[in-house]
Amino acid sequence: MNLLKPIDLNKILGLKVQEEVEENKTLKDIEEMIKKSEKIIIFTHESPDGDAIGSTLSVYHALKEIGKDPIMYIPEYSRLFDFLPGTGEIKKELKDELYDLAISLDCSDLKRLEGKEYFENAANTIAVDHHENNNMFADLNYVNSAAPACAEVLISMFLYLGINITKEIGTCLLTGIITDTGGFQYQGVTPETFEFAAELLRKGIDIPNISSKVLQTRTKANFELSRKVTERMEFLENGQIAFSYINIKDEEEANAEPGDHEGLVNIGRSIEGVEVSIFIREKEENAYKVSMRSVNKVNVSDICYLFGGGGHVRAAGCLIKGNVEQVKNKIIKETKKAL
Ligand code: AMP
Ligand code: MN
Ligand code: MN
Repeated sequence: MNLLKPIDLNKILGLKVQEEVEENKTLKDIEEMIKKSEKIIIFTHESPDGDAIGSTLSVYHALKEIGKDPIMYIPEYSRLFDFLPGTGEIKKELKDELYDLAISLDCSDLKRLEGKEYFENAANTIAVDHHENNNMFADLNYVNSAAPACAEVLISMFLYLGINITKEIGTCLLTGIITDTGGFQYQGVTPETFEFAAELLRKGIDIPNISSKVLQTRTKANFELSRKVTERMEFLENGQIAFSYINIKDEEEANAEPGDHEGLVNIGRSIEGVEVSIFIREKEENAYKVSMRSVNKVNVSDICYLFGGGGHVRAAGCLIKGNVEQVKNKIIKETKKAL
């Protein structure tokens, strides 16, 4: 194990945060629940992004630090995350077993949890998350919607549990933070985000390498898909809305693997004058996964909520039934109202 000099999280997070964390009743209950549990399993949301994978791996390493032997379950994820420590231990299939404790990370709704049937059957459940519309589906819910990433919520939990942030834990946490903030760029980054990153950099965590692996490297298939997205881009409402799509056939032609569609929604958002970028992806026959991003005005989480989805103010998603034209019309109608 590659141990770093212990990081003084108290110093980084400040006295106020430390007091809040120490007095937090949920964290106290979480600590007790973890301590008494033997068989622990960690879950995250479907189509896992860097925050989902980084959070899962960091909890895995953290629980190992306190003598537990947890299991992680992620059936599919982008191979771009394979460089992270511990990915070799991820289970892609599960046996029919019962668990003492199931932990859900970065997931606002049981519907979106990969492995929800095992989660529901566990004796006890914990959810740690940062979505504002989290519906508190676990026995214990530690949710902070002011945090830009689930990984940042976990920092407070690790502080409470007295866990030393090792190089492995720090690398995984920073991956979550870097991906969910687009490299410390999006609204929602906090002073603590930078303080934590600065401290980890000081201790030798290779932030440039993480950024290069998770933000600046794309698969060939992702590049091929981005050509289609660019080619099909439409602008509506005087260029305030950008819309594009891909179908299952496009993914087949590009030999796309899980996660290869990640980031395609950002192509529209980066164009001058665009407030809302909408990218839809055929998920199954007659149903499209909608991804929305906004620049500084529209609450896209509210729009997706109307269709049974959700997310954050500037990044949200939902699933809508229909063909491209039908889904496009439904989502654009609501977006126009919000402009
Ligand atoms: P995506 O566009 O898939 O990258 O998702 C953007 C954000 O919205 C993420 O924080 C997701 O967790 C959230 N999100 C995406 N789809 C859904 C959904 N169907 N229900 C709730 N939240 C979602
Ligand atoms: Mn996520
Ligand atoms: Mn997240």
